[in-house]
Amino acid sequence: MDLTYERKNAYKNADEKKLKKIFEYSERYKRFLDNGKTEREVVAETVALAKENGYTEFDFSKDVKAGDKLYYNNRNKGLFLLKAGKANIAENGVRILVAHVDSPRLDLKQVPLFEKADMAYLKTHYYGGIKKYQWLTIPLALHGVIALKNGEKITVRVGEAEEDPVFYITDLLPHLSQEQSTKTVATAFNAENLNVLVGGIPAEGEKEKKLVKQNVLKILNEKYGVTEEDFLSAEIEAVPAYKAKDVGFDRAFVASYGHDDRVCTFPEVTALLETETDQTVLTILADKEEIGSEGNTGMQSVLINDIINKLAESYKVNAAVIRAHSKCLSADVTAAYDPSFADAFEEMNASFANHGVAMNKFTGARGKSGSNDASAEYVGYLRNVFEKEGVIWQTGELGRVDLGGGGTVAKFIANMNIDTVDLGVPVLSMHAPYELISKADIYEAHKAFSAFIK
Ligand code: MN
Ligand code: MN
Repeated sequence: MDLTYERKNAYKNADEKKLKKIFEYSERYKRFLDNGKTEREVVAETVALAKENGYTEFDFSKDVKAGDKLYYNNRNKGLFLLKAGKANIAENGVRILVAHVDSPRLDLKQVPLFEKADMAYLKTHYYGGIKKYQWLTIPLALHGVIALKNGEKITVRVGEAEEDPVFYITDLLPHLSQEQSTKTVATAFNAENLNVLVGGIPAEGEKEKKLVKQNVLKILNEKYGVTEEDFLSAEIEAVPAYKAKDVGFDRAFVASYGHDDRVCTFPEVTALLETETDQTVLTILADKEEIGSEGNTGMQSVLINDIINKLAESYKVNAAVIRAHSKCLSADVTAAYDPSFADAFEEMNASFANHGVAMNKFTGARGKSGSNDASAEYVGYLRNVFEKEGVIWQTGELGRVDLGGGGTVAKFIANMNIDTVDLGVPVLSMHAPYELISKADIYEAHKAFSAFIK
């Protein structure tokens, strides 16, 4: 009997049938990625999926009954999907799956448009943790909404269709980079220079009138009926214009913008929609994770408690009893071991691409600070759940101790007296404009979430 522990490769010994399933699943995921590049777009496409599967709108004034399939659209940026089961909610609580749908990007400022050297630009304020240089000289698309004073809302999505133009941030040529290349990465790229080039043709008129800017405003007015002032109430995000693509001769991987955290969002949604269960399941698509889960669309909002309270009222069970018996998987990505940057990791406790869905018992930084450190008992419970369903999973921590760190929404759920642990797909080049994941790992994530809610 082998007494040692070793992580498993999720592709190894996969028969043709399993490989086919993995590849088919990743095709669905790639479509989900290309349709949803912002939190708003992911919520919209998930609401559509939920409706196709018989979900109707959650209403705080109506009781929830076993068999109900409900969705609560939180300001078009967050979403709760609730499937009420027959199982006793006082004993079983709620099975909660939570992933986030916001990704790092460049948000347009509220007064963004300016002209310099006969070129028009949009100023940005980056959102989430980015390496600024990665956003230079790549094709960008603009996605978002412009809310008008009259309540009307205009949707913007330019740079995705084949015939669309894209947008662009310049970098300095190497020939003139002697000074730039002596600076550190942290200081060489100024956030106030992340200006998106959007025009170069002057309108007719007098030169001092900033005619290129005028011409861009004219185009925007013709296309959307807006003026410069309307940017004041707009949320427009510059995101990479890349489509999701297979990577490798064997197509083992998928590269895309926004794997963090759509690579967990998609399997938590498919697990909910495709798993037969008697449990009451709450699937959450949270916004604002990348900037601390704040605000009324972030995971720190009381909305989750409002929904649990509604369940308590409907079933005439104390809400504290429901929470105490609930269990949560905080479905977020973790760093995959990268041989090119091996010294950032501690190999025994790193997560590896192609080795299944990865559990982070804790996250945090500098001695686990700021982390939800899941209990041994809860991890033991999950080992059993995953083993029964043949889920290939691994453990891991973000990187070498004291190198850096990170957090997830796990602690906000755990703070509510709910057992919670992080479980997600390992990502290479996390937070880059084009991130990489393994098809086998997202497939195992779907299996793990399905096993959890059974
Ligand atoms: Mn994340
Ligand atoms: Mn992230």
